[in-house]
Amino acid sequence: MRIIVKKELIEGILAYSRDVHPREIILLLRGKAGNDIEVNEVVMPPGAIQGLGFSGFQPYKLPFDLSIVGVIHSHPSGSSSPSIHDLNHPYGKITMIAAYPYRSVDNITIFGKRGQMLPFEVVAQ
Ligand SMILES: [Zn+2]
Repeated sequence: MRIIVKKELIEGILAYSRDVHPREIILLLRGKAGNDIEVNEVVMPPGAIQGLGFSGFQPYKLPFDLSIVGVIHSHPSGSSSPSIHDLNHPYGKITMIAAYPYRSVDNITIFGKRGQMLPFEVVAQ
């Protein structure tokens, strides 16, 4: 399985994370999930809560949407590892974390449902 993420999406996530810092961001990742996972856009979750050291949303408010492949949230602490909470509450196939200082793709990590780090490719288009 390959994970493919658009470059402009990564840049948008990093810029938004910087804007909102020190609060966390949380966005849904939308794309295609087949043999590979393609992440094409982000959408604001309904009922999103963004706070200091906490971000979340209410999954029951989500429309049934197979194009949601996972969630991106930021870690203002700078940790690029999933927290216990992240591991206990996965949503979708992948969990993406943007870690402070949100400067480049090096600050982005992606994890699977069991907390395993997943490699990903960044594409221009
Ligand atoms: Zn987290």
